[in-house]
Amino acid sequence: MSVAQALRDAAARLEAISGTPRLDAELLLAHALDVSRNELLMRQRDLSVPPGFNLLLDRRLAGEPIAYITGNRDFWTISLHVTPDVLIPRPDTETLIEAAVDHFAKRAPAHILDLGTGSGALLLAALSQWQLASGVGVDVSPAALAVARGNAERLGLADRADFRLGDWAEGMEGPFDLILINPPYIAEDVVLSGDVLHEPNGALFAGAEGLDDYRRIAPMLPRLLGPGGMAAIEIGYDQRVSVSALLVDQGFSVTARADLAGHDRCLVATLVDLD
Ligand code: GLN
Repeated sequence: MSVAQALRDAAARLEAISGTPRLDAELLLAHALDVSRNELLMRQRDLSVPPGFNLLLDRRLAGEPIAYITGNRDFWTISLHVTPDVLIPRPDTETLIEAAVDHFAKRAPAHILDLGTGSGALLLAALSQWQLASGVGVDVSPAALAVARGNAERLGLADRADFRLGDWAEGMEGPFDLILINPPYIAEDVVLSGDVLHEPNGALFAGAEGLDDYRRIAPMLPRLLGPGGMAAIEIGYDQRVSVSALLVDQGFSVTARADLAGHDRCLVATLVDLD
């Protein structure tokens, strides 16, 4: 069967379980052939469909996320290795990096902290953005830290990235210019469906209202943020008011930034200038 036909057939079958069936088919076939998606599309006529493709397709049809099947996800300007030990980096989360790029238009951040680093996505994206910066990524999961360290190595960023086991910023010392945080924020009674069912619960759920981790993190931030610095904190689309209040209580000035779908996705906290 030709590559073109295999992609058409696979996309038709994937329609039952995916909102992006054609893209999924392309990513799976590219992975089976060990080529990039671009290469697959450009060299279609020279390539043939390998026997392993059907197994990958079956895994996707059974609901497994593409990123866990291929072991890869692009984020900002970098490509990350991902496993079921880490949340799959989302395009929405790039909103935090966009907010930081705006804040640091004139002066690059030197020291960066990423709380709940997971795959290392936010810290490594920031270190690739600011090539003189160094940073610390903290996670409560040793398995996630192993993934993050591997990503730092592969991206050539290991000498500027320190990954530590920790409970948010417990025992951490600042100051940091930029603090990036994508904590769990889904209320525990929310019933999820689709890809997210395969992701680590600990990276998703945060108590009755989804606010438990914000309540723990907010009081830790004032002592960690240096002068002129900012914290970019991911929130659920309906959490702007509740999470802003927690940050204002700690003396921060807070603005919200929307994701590409127009939902509030990122809170930017800066210290109110007293003079
Ligand atoms: N945005 C993710 C989702 O809704 C949640 C990620 C998180 O809790 N940090 O699937």
